[in-house]
Amino acid sequence: MRPRYSGLALLKHAAFGRTGWPRAWRDANPRDAYDVVIVGGGGHGLATAYYLAKKHRIRRVAVLEKGWIGGGNTGRNTTVIRSNYFYPESNRIYGLSHRLYQGLSRKLNYNIMYSPRGMVQLIHSEAEMEMAARALNAMRLGGSSAEIWSRAQLKRREPLLNWADEARHAIHGAMVQPKAATARHDAVAWGYARAADALGVDIIQNCEVTDFLTSAGRITGVATTRGEIRAERVGLAVAGHSSDLAARAGLSLPITSYALQAFVSEPVKPILHRILFSAALGVYISQSDKGGLVFGGGLDRVPSYGQRGNLPVAQGVVSGISNLVPALATARILRQWAGIVDVTPDSSPIIGPSGMAGLYLNCGWGTGGFKAIPGGGWVFAHLLAKGEHHEISRPFDLSRFDRGHLLDEGAAAGIAH
Ligand code: FAD
Repeated sequence: MRPRYSGLALLKHAAFGRTGWPRAWRDANPRDAYDVVIVGGGGHGLATAYYLAKKHRIRRVAVLEKGWIGGGNTGRNTTVIRSNYFYPESNRIYGLSHRLYQGLSRKLNYNIMYSPRGMVQLIHSEAEMEMAARALNAMRLGGSSAEIWSRAQLKRREPLLNWADEARHAIHGAMVQPKAATARHDAVAWGYARAADALGVDIIQNCEVTDFLTSAGRITGVATTRGEIRAERVGLAVAGHSSDLAARAGLSLPITSYALQAFVSEPVKPILHRILFSAALGVYISQSDKGGLVFGGGLDRVPSYGQRGNLPVAQGVVSGISNLVPALATARILRQWAGIVDVTPDSSPIIGPSGMAGLYLNCGWGTGGFKAIPGGGWVFAHLLAKGEHHEISRPFDLSRFDRGHLLDEGAAAGIAH
């Protein structure tokens, strides 16, 4: 980071307050027309706008956000960044994203609080150990680093886990991705927004896209709550509302939307130094820099747009966490929230042309698209700039559902996203 103030100025501001902070990004008004309009001011939309402007030098770009930027899933997730997938195609896109994350604070000149701390994926049976060994080999072949830890190795490093032999899911060992990380989610949105704005991108909040403008079978713009905006190309990056919005362009996407819940405890002293995940218990947990224990589990059982979540899943998650780390059973929960996530039949994202000229899709990230923000933005910007796939995004084209070339990471990686 470049220091912007001297020590004396900081002292003066601490004592007397500071007024006149420059805005981090302009409060832009919509223009009549752009080269590219991106719908959705989450991480993916903002990263796409940044790479369009920075890498492809396309600067007549607008990001339209119905609420405030980062107010969707980008500001609601549990910030786990990893690239431990099974298929080479997945490893390529999540690996690209992971690499971009590592240098992102410096690139954006904005501290996203990237914290590489490693992820421990618990193994509770011999059968799971065998599956983990296969996954590990696939990951290594795909260029991701991974290790298997024995029960004894893990016990030395994570003494707070439930080591009881009679535990319902006794621990056999773990598969570990040492480079897995967390980052501050809002800062990812804000960092990309500030950098994109500095390159001339218009970030327009409180601007809901309600319909599409068409001419001769082509999408030529969008109708919004702030008027009509024309565009050469329109990109959708609206996470939990992709199928809903695409339906207004006459498209039917293979997507089901669910609430996904998360929780944070009262802050406590540093006790968990890694991200812990147990597929058998259906839960994961990490500790934030403020001390809160951030945890969650699987999707709500019934598809819904109700952004609250429901009690049975919350009970299952809390009991799973108490089983995983018994000492946490007395920690108090500070907050619970949910976001709506769009899930595809093979738990992999959809990136590519929509089938309707002028309209492009970046969606279906399910419960795991925070980690994919830089990589997703990178390949989506390529698609919007050139009108054709980046080689990394091609396997995620919508047509895979017609061709039967699914990338079922739910089954293969054992993680439902
Ligand atoms: P969003 O951030 O949701 O942005 C989409 C934006 O589109 C929203 O701001 C919305 O307001 C806007 N929008 C919608 N409709 C319109 C419209 N008509 N007009 C204008 N704007 C519109 N991923 C991980 O990798 N790691 C995790 O640990 C993780 N944990 C999660 C925990 C929870 C509880 C949740 C809910 C998700 C989690 N995820 C995680 C998933 C991750 O948060 C998402 O995949 C990712 O944030 C999607 O980013 P996005 O930019 O596509 O969507």
